[in-house]
Amino acid sequence: MVPMPQLRPDVASFIGTVRPMLIGDEWHRCDKRFAVYNPATGAVLAEVCDGGVVEVDAAVVAARRAFEDHSWRRMAPAARTELLWKLADLLLANAEQLVELEVMNQGKSAELATHLDVHGSAESLRYYAGWCTKLEGTTLDISFPDFRGKNGQGPAYHAYSVKEPIGVVAAIVPWNVPLVMAIAKLAPALTAGCTVVLRPAQETPLTTLRLGELILEAGFPPGVVNIVTGFGPEVPAALANHHDVDMVSFTGSTAVGRKIVEAAGNSNLKRVCLELGGNRPVIVCADADLDAAAQAAVDGLMINSGQMCFAGSRLLVERSIFDAFMQRVASIAGAMRLGPGWDSAAALGPLISARQRDSVAQVVAQACATPGISLLTGGKACEGAGFFYEPTVFACPDHSAAIVQMEVFGPVITGTPFESASDLYQVAKLANDTEYGLTASVWTKDLSLAHRLAAEIRSGMVWINCAYAFDEGLPFGGYKQSGWGREGSRLGVEEYLQSKSVIAAL
Ligand code: NAD
Repeated sequence: MVPMPQLRPDVASFIGTVRPMLIGDEWHRCDKRFAVYNPATGAVLAEVCDGGVVEVDAAVVAARRAFEDHSWRRMAPAARTELLWKLADLLLANAEQLVELEVMNQGKSAELATHLDVHGSAESLRYYAGWCTKLEGTTLDISFPDFRGKNGQGPAYHAYSVKEPIGVVAAIVPWNVPLVMAIAKLAPALTAGCTVVLRPAQETPLTTLRLGELILEAGFPPGVVNIVTGFGPEVPAALANHHDVDMVSFTGSTAVGRKIVEAAGNSNLKRVCLELGGNRPVIVCADADLDAAAQAAVDGLMINSGQMCFAGSRLLVERSIFDAFMQRVASIAGAMRLGPGWDSAAALGPLISARQRDSVAQVVAQACATPGISLLTGGKACEGAGFFYEPTVFACPDHSAAIVQMEVFGPVITGTPFESASDLYQVAKLANDTEYGLTASVWTKDLSLAHRLAAEIRSGMVWINCAYAFDEGLPFGGYKQSGWGREGSRLGVEEYLQSKSVIAAL
């Protein structure tokens, strides 16, 4: 393995002290602490304050105060835009430090951390910043001013509706793209005029804590953004159950999403927005550009070592090309070089933790022992330091096999044949045969077929002839058990707003 480079001085000094959490405009320390790791080496990277219910309560009080004192929601929309832009500028000005922190803490490549995590987050902030000045209501000539049969008579009325921020938002995020996830919650919530308590995943709090410093530097009013760190479910569960939190915006697994819904129902019926798991079908028809499709099948799964909600984990391949196509995918995947994020020649990094690696190993072992499933490449955890797992490809004739149906969240691709692309509804049925409905892709030169398939597939995003592509201007979110609500576009801001109608007799 390429040895770890000497840390940049601004990274070494940042992780050199136990990192506190942000409550109001103060950095709060507590006696308990927990370690965060470098997944490429397995070594402790830093220590972070381990908050609990006390810190959650304090952060919710700070967020509530900032919401009620109008310092944020009544700030001129153009001034809110300016602050969000300033934060984007600060992210870019500190890009190298943030990239190194993310590479060391999350394990992804420096290239991905640069383009997706840091530049992607800055772009996202700028996109949402533009919406601050465009959130308008409506006016209406009313038809039924009273219930006494005098419709349209009597005094004139002025009736209008306005959009108002929902209030205090708890944002709970996973570890796979920490900065992107933090901004995916903060940017639309702040645009809407909400205040936020953000809980980064216990595995990857470092870039979010640095983001907290940049938020203060940008000049956001105290309490508008609070960051509470903590090990285990105590902090996020306390947020989900809190009676003074108006909304939980959650990204994570479907299993934990269910718990959030339950907590909302058992507390104050807070609004819940859920971005949950996925298990992307990648439909490959015999007429497709098979070189491009095979490379994209590997790229679309192996990005971030398979730890992406949109990972293309389920290849559905027309039977006439199935064997040859799967061999091609296996040979591309099998040739990937494993290595840490600081090795620019590495194509596949570590998994986030020993736990995640062991969970992938267990699923793979079970698949290897299942009759009919063939292992085409990989299938082993790597020896030595760090949490690396080989790129793994299976041929699975039976689509109901556990490894096909579940979200593995690791570098594992399965392939299942379908008879003929001409039987559009059978192909769509196979693609839809999962509890998830986040993303899907279709590879064919027949664009009419591709669009008809896109119409039949029950998922929030369909890609045609590409590995994946995104834009904040397009809504992203799940059908079925992949979630409730959308991120991106105007819809993403609407999640954090509520409508009020006002009727005045003139
Ligand atoms: P996870 O559900 O285990 O954890 C997500 C967050 O929830 C973490 O911060 C965790 O600490 C917290 N949490 C754990 N128990 C909780 C509880 N009882 N109450 C409240 N919060 C609790 O998921 P993960 O392993 O961190 O991330 C992987 C999952 O996230 C995958 O399923 C992936 O598909 C999903 N994901 C979805 C999207 C999307 O946009 N749809 C994006 C990224 C990741």
